[in-house]
Amino acid sequence: METQRRVEPVEPVIKFALLDDVLNLARANSLWPMTFGLACCAIEMMAAGASRFDLDRFGAGVFRPSPRQSDLMIVAGTISRKMAPAIQMLWDQMPNPKWCVAMGNCAISGGPFEYDGQYAIVPGAGLILPVDIFIPGCPPRPEGLIQGFLALEDKITRGEDRNYLRRFHRKGGKL
Ligand code: SF4
Repeated sequence: METQRRVEPVEPVIKFALLDDVLNLARANSLWPMTFGLACCAIEMMAAGASRFDLDRFGAGVFRPSPRQSDLMIVAGTISRKMAPAIQMLWDQMPNPKWCVAMGNCAISGGPFEYDGQYAIVPGAGLILPVDIFIPGCPPRPEGLIQGFLALEDKITRGEDRNYLRRFHRKGGKL
């Protein structure tokens, strides 16, 4: 005797993503870093963009020649006090939304130069810019930068708050 299989009715599932979520996903996977380097860490940044490490795999290989076309500033290297106003100007010329990565110990805290008692070095990009991700190392390897990219992409996808407090301090603060 043939038994008839009972088929459970399938409930239609329709999910709508918020427009913000879709935009954040698109932003996270199409970062355009600015072509910009300050010291030795920038060599590792260039290596990360070259064929061996291939930042294009993460949608971030299109280094732009102008701040007006960029949405990511990678502070790669030592920030001298003389250079700091120029860096801030470049940051201000970038359109919103934009993100900042501090790459290497110099960009995080002034690095070996700060411990050396150098008066000419800014002890950290966080004092002049709203940094989203810090990547330690002297210098960090390209894999470190890639890990930083993944952390940033994760942060953008989640739509995390963009550290407005630091930006507020920057406006009122002095070097
Ligand atoms: S952290 Fe090290 S490698 Fe990077 S800019 Fe400073 S001294 Fe050079």
